[in-house]
Amino acid sequence: MKEIAKRYIKDTDITKEEWIELLGCAEDPDTVQGLAKEAVRIRKQYYGEKVYVRGLIEFTNYCKNDCYYCGIRRGNLHACRYRLRKEEILDCCREGYQLGFRTFVLQGGEDRWFTDERMAEIIRAIRETYPDCAITLSIGERSKESYRLFRQAGADRYLLRHETANERHYGTLHPSSMSLAVRKQCLHDLRELGYQVGAGFMVGSPGQTLNCLAEDLMFLKELKPHMVGIGPFIPHHDTIFAKEPAGSVSMTLYLLSLIRILLPQVLLPATTALGTLDPKGREKGLSVGANVVMPNLSPVQNRKQYDLYDNKICTGEEAAECLVCLAQRVQRVGYHLVHERGDAYGIEKEPIL
Ligand code: SAH
Repeated sequence: MKEIAKRYIKDTDITKEEWIELLGCAEDPDTVQGLAKEAVRIRKQYYGEKVYVRGLIEFTNYCKNDCYYCGIRRGNLHACRYRLRKEEILDCCREGYQLGFRTFVLQGGEDRWFTDERMAEIIRAIRETYPDCAITLSIGERSKESYRLFRQAGADRYLLRHETANERHYGTLHPSSMSLAVRKQCLHDLRELGYQVGAGFMVGSPGQTLNCLAEDLMFLKELKPHMVGIGPFIPHHDTIFAKEPAGSVSMTLYLLSLIRILLPQVLLPATTALGTLDPKGREKGLSVGANVVMPNLSPVQNRKQYDLYDNKICTGEEAAECLVCLAQRVQRVGYHLVHERGDAYGIEKEPIL
């Protein structure tokens, strides 16, 4: 194992130059394996063989934003738009609950039809029907007051990937109407409101350098999110990045190990994007430090429409089939799915402000 990796295992407080050096070791088999082994040791120390499941409900693909990488960006006139009604969302939850899901993730584009009041109503309905379940939102940037309203309505967690912690790179991926500063402010607001917060980024997005990744990891170290979502960038045919190469699976796996060591108790999914680029991607993710999977609970007829990137997996099967398939995959790499809320460590009763 490279010297820098040994040092990282002892103390993750390293300089930016050292981060870049460490990230540069992604091709060195001894280092990659050594860090994966340490990541798995830490993961087992806190979570044993457990893998948490989150039921992903993709409830709208309308979006007011125009993120250059994303297939459901406003500018994509070929996207076939849909939004679920409250009753349909509750149907997804009902099916999920019967299958053993105890976390529902409501994810969508930034759809203004879902006003604060409409969102709060949906959250309240899920909260009342499933008091034992965690409600996670992933609906982009809103004001602190909106986040507060959702929290009071019963939301527990919020996923908002920062996408990149480098200003210039942020500008490569987004139109000038969007800014990293706002994104970061949202993450800080969510934290203050007592949400379990998830940040994260794509691996290998156009223009990303080791310097960018070093900044991503330094940002995570500072923010200390409860969850971190990373997955390889995958081009979508109707975006300006259609011809860009996809991110690397091995780099994503290496980063999963680094993040597990950086934030030992973090909830770290083996993402669908990882499973899309490599048929064994999610299993590989679990084998290097990930401890969460997020099967799809959206209605089958809408799954293909939530088209963030090309060739997305699991768009054809019913939720039950997806779950059985995933449970087997998880089992094969020595772990098991559990039907628990799977809260972040140290979360007893967070304040609702
Ligand atoms: N509107 C919400 C949800 C976005 S979709 C929000 O802004 O948070 C969830 C994640 O999918 C994004 O944060 C992004 O990191 C990822 N994603 C989008 N397009 C992608 C692509 N082409 N390849 C890989 N991941 C992508």
